[in-house]
Amino acid sequence: MITCILENMPTTIRSFCRENPDGSYTVVINARLTLEGARDAFRHELSHINGGDFGDADTDEIENARHKAGRVDRGRIP
Ligand SMILES: [Zn+2]
Repeated sequence: MITCILENMPTTIRSFCRENPDGSYTVVINARLTLEGARDAFRHELSHINGGDFGDADTDEIENARHKAGRVDRGRIP
C-alpha cells in the first residue's frame, strides 16, 4: 500500500518517500508544487519504490541513477 500526503515544505524539497515497518510506503509531496509538478514528483517516488531503493545504498548514487533515467527534473521548486 502507498499512502500519499501533500504537505507544505521548504522549496528545496520536492518530495520524499519512506518505507514503513509494515512494508507499506508513505510518499510526501510538497504542496507548493503545481499539479503537474506533484505528478512528476509522485512518479519519481514510485520509481524509488519500484526500484527497491531503500536500505543501505548510497542515496546520492540512487538519485543520480533515477534522474539520469530522465524520470523527473531535479532541483528547486520555481
Ligand atoms: Zn529521488
